[in-house]
Amino acid sequence: SNMKLDSLSGCMSRVFSLCESEAASRGHAFTMEQVEGEVTVYMDRDKIIQVLINLIRNAFQAMENTGHVHLSLLTGDEPWALISVRDNGTGIPSEVLDRIFDPFFTTKEEGTGLGLSLCQKIVEDHGGYITVESTPGAGTTFTVKLPVSSRGG
Ligand code: ADP
Ligand code: MG
Repeated sequence: SNMKLDSLSGCMSRVFSLCESEAASRGHAFTMEQVEGEVTVYMDRDKIIQVLINLIRNAFQAMENTGHVHLSLLTGDEPWALISVRDNGTGIPSEVLDRIFDPFFTTKEEGTGLGLSLCQKIVEDHGGYITVESTPGAGTTFTVKLPVSSRGG
């Protein structure tokens, strides 16, 4: 496998720069905050990048006009990294919230409905969890929780 100890901070910065031009062309504000110091996770870096890009692109697509997407990396006392992708888009109606991780569930005309099911599989393969909180009309936050190997700096 491609699992190795790698910098989650570096991964976040890479994702941020990969998504900046799409944010700009859609007219969305796109911001990032990271905990100070290095956060190291045992991961398949390309797969975690794929997860975050999926979440960010969903966020961009959830905004009818222009909006704001915020990416953050936090750690607490426990050995977990919390990555969140927050948007102020349409939100998700409560009656569909428990289906969004199902393969092929989509509300988009040209959606595959595979993004979130793949994200969930990848995160769980890393010993982590993915959760969502959403308020229709106000926005959505997806949180990816990954086990941290070490923290420093
Ligand atoms: P797709 O993007 O192809 O529709 P996904 O699995 O990525 O498939 O997402 C499934 C569905 O979850 C979307 O069609 C949409 O209804 C909902 N969804 C996902 N992310 C968001 C978000 N940030 N805001 C609002 N709805 C979302
Ligand atoms: Mg998607």
